[in-house]
Amino acid sequence: MGQTFDAVIVGAGIMGCSTALQLAQRGLKVAIVEKGTIGAGSTGKSSAVIRMHYSNELTARMALFSLGKFQDLGDECGFTRTGFVALASASDCEGLKANVALQQKAGIQTELLSPDELRELVPLLETTDVAAAAWEPGSGYADPHLTVNAYADAARRHGAKIFLGTDVVAVRMAADKVVGVDTPGDRFDAPLVVNCAGPWGAHVAAMTGVKVPINACRTQVALFGYPQGHNACSVIVGDFILGTYSRPETGNLTLAGLIDPSESNAVVDPDDYNELHDDEFVLELGERLMRRCPPMKKSHSTGGFAALYAITPDWHPIVDELVPDSGLYICAGFSGHGFKLAPAVGLMVADMLTGTSDPEFDPHLFRAARYAENDPVRGKYQYTIAG
Ligand SMILES: Cc1cc2nc3c(=O)[nH]c(=O)nc-3n(C[C@H](O)[C@H](O)[C@H](O)COP(=O)(O)OP(=O)(O)OC[C@H]3O[C@@H](n4cnc5c(N)ncnc54)[C@H](O)[C@@H]3O)c2cc1C
Repeated sequence: MGQTFDAVIVGAGIMGCSTALQLAQRGLKVAIVEKGTIGAGSTGKSSAVIRMHYSNELTARMALFSLGKFQDLGDECGFTRTGFVALASASDCEGLKANVALQQKAGIQTELLSPDELRELVPLLETTDVAAAAWEPGSGYADPHLTVNAYADAARRHGAKIFLGTDVVAVRMAADKVVGVDTPGDRFDAPLVVNCAGPWGAHVAAMTGVKVPINACRTQVALFGYPQGHNACSVIVGDFILGTYSRPETGNLTLAGLIDPSESNAVVDPDDYNELHDDEFVLELGERLMRRCPPMKKSHSTGGFAALYAITPDWHPIVDELVPDSGLYICAGFSGHGFKLAPAVGLMVADMLTGTSDPEFDPHLFRAARYAENDPVRGKYQYTIAG
């Protein structure tokens, strides 16, 4: 028996749940159809670092807006304010300065630090190779499970229905308009369908014959513990010189990963990949972290895991109507940095779907056609992947 909605969202990750909340708040009858559980994809394994250091005005403004929402949610999303520091070498110094100026213009509380000022702020860090740093005192990290469930619960309170363990196997079109989705046991009719399937985004788009350049790529995270009397670094570090990020984690741990463009080569089947970490990864990451933070030599590995990034050619998402005037939308491909943007993304997508004439966040930067137009999103660093 079919059920009819104003909008069906495929995927209950942070993007699907944030979008559902925005649409339900506007009075739309919304369904999220999720093949697993809430946060089962990238979201549940996210490092959930929330910083505003971006190279584009749009993403910086989205990050600022979203930080406010995480701060408002507070304990409900496990927001922990630590401050965030981005480190740049001489070759990225001009980019860092330009980014800080752009962010300050957008109203973000951030400042440039010299190596001496950085050492004063975070004495644990080795700074001889640092030309300049950017400091955001208000940034931090959240608990991804608490966050996505907070959004799902809020969407439900506004009337959204969430169908778990329900695999979308077909997206139905009629005369170039979307009319719904099918699952093995049911059909959902709607004139609006949003593909929020993250690493499965290309697979779901292909159900209507549309190709989108989103790959599911394996990435890894490792955790390090400390003996009694030694503490983890208390701020989040985005190290664009050695290519790592790290943040404190509950239990006096450091949680860390690589900032590595070559992760886009690790294309896997999102339904069948190795979810364990590799020992070589932990060794390489640990080596880099110890160079940056020598007291980490006292730390020991407490394991890790592998997860999925949904990577596009420019490491930025595709948020667009996939076929003009069809009602079929996509909001996927956030690579390694989408979590922090999710509150703003939900607003952006809801504005698109409801035809808001003056949207808070214009999705043009994330249009699908930008690759064919040779106009990808560009950052100011060699590590453009960080945004
Ligand atoms: C290890 C790691 C660390 C990260 N660290 C950060 C960070 O520090 N800061 C940050 O901002 N971002 C970070 N990210 C990125 C961020 O987590 C992602 O960009 C974000 O979670 C993507 O959310 P999503 O909703 O688009 O996708 P997902 O969370 O993957 O959700 C997609 C959902 O769609 C469902 N689905 C797929 N196909 C179907 C189908 N056919 N039918 C029904 N359901 C379907 C899946 O089961 C899944 O639940 C990290 C990601 C990873 C993996």
